[in-house]
Amino acid sequence: MSKFSDFNFSGHKALIRVDFNVPIDMDFNVTDNTRITATIPTIKKILADGGSVILMTHLGRPKDGAVDKYSVKHLINSLYKLLYVGHPNSDNYNENTKVLFADDCIGTQAVLAASILKPGEVLLLENLRFYKEEEKGDKVFAEKLSKLGDVYVNDAFGTAHRAHASTAVIANFFPAEKKMFGLLMNAEVLSAEKVLHQSQKPFTAIIGGAKVSDKILVIENLLHRATDIIIGGGMAYTFLKARGGKIGSSLCEDDRLQTALNILEMAKQKNVSIHLPEDSVIADKFAADANTEICPSDVIPDGWMGLDIGPKATGIFNEIIGKSKTILWNGPMGVFEMEKFQAGTKAVAEAVAASTANGAFSLVGGGDSVAAVNKFNLANKVSYVSTGGGAMLEYFEGKTLPGIAAIKKD
Ligand code: AMP
Repeated sequence: MSKFSDFNFSGHKALIRVDFNVPIDMDFNVTDNTRITATIPTIKKILADGGSVILMTHLGRPKDGAVDKYSVKHLINSLYKLLYVGHPNSDNYNENTKVLFADDCIGTQAVLAASILKPGEVLLLENLRFYKEEEKGDKVFAEKLSKLGDVYVNDAFGTAHRAHASTAVIANFFPAEKKMFGLLMNAEVLSAEKVLHQSQKPFTAIIGGAKVSDKILVIENLLHRATDIIIGGGMAYTFLKARGGKIGSSLCEDDRLQTALNILEMAKQKNVSIHLPEDSVIADKFAADANTEICPSDVIPDGWMGLDIGPKATGIFNEIIGKSKTILWNGPMGVFEMEKFQAGTKAVAEAVAASTANGAFSLVGGGDSVAAVNKFNLANKVSYVSTGGGAMLEYFEGKTLPGIAAIKKD
């Protein structure tokens, strides 16, 4: 059991840092409520205990103070529906229950709204990033926020890599027994720890996506942990070129060729097998209606580009995934947004699901691999889908995440 699950919130005002940074369309409708949904169990547990909830979040990247476009008032409806609609008889909610809103996250209005909050009520505070102090990790601002509740709950894994006022600094104003991870954050931390520190071998990391430069530190850190590293997607071609291959006009970071060689050499020394795609689906242009061929990945003709892993590579990758006991997947194997180039990513997603059904622990994280498992309806067939792309990458780079450290240090 976690500290959060054991805590009885009856009579407490829980100040929860959530990550409700969700996409919003021109009419201010939330177009993907995954991040809000992920925190609902945390909120419900507190309300069911007889506590009240004060929610703090950021939304977008407001540059200069308050702007309507980034007001979190646009989230009230989604939050209300997810909390109450469809559950009229559960957890003591009644039809008068609403989501209250304070149009400032500090100041008189927030203090007053928090002070009169009753057990079972939810108060949403206006966008934290309307104050520059939030991202600066300002102590005075953090202390003002801390006064609104008497227990601090961090459920925002998506911002755990930021040392902001509401994600890290604020924890200093609560005693050890009154600060904790929420259910989402706890699940994220446990699954990331399981992969990085308690992995059963063979441990395969599948790293894909566009750029080597984004993933170098992750790959370097995984060389100390994994037995196999599968490299697919656009980034594979920098490795293939570094090894002397001809990659046509495939994606390549020429300033990273030496880095790629260093990684391949380090892997040899550490006895880690790095697997690059033997063949590719190549295209004569970057377009959904391009002409395509299958070609060995190191002899791609000029004017053609590799946009997916080929059938041979897929077979080899699937076999490795099938033998794994721990799997980490970040980044697609190809341009899976286009139908002609989705087969590799789909096959890898299916292989990860099959291996999970066979007892492997699989963690999928990073925006595009999450989008891929969702697209292929496999999200509930892997062990854990992380909600925090940037935070997860930094965790696997071996960095200490301020949002985690702030709670764990006591
Ligand atoms: P990332 O955000 O680095 O994980 O990259 C994800 C993006 O990489 C997706 O939009 C994919 O379409 C793109 N991608 C994957 N494979 C390739 C490839 N072979 N060439 C160009 N882009 C790719």
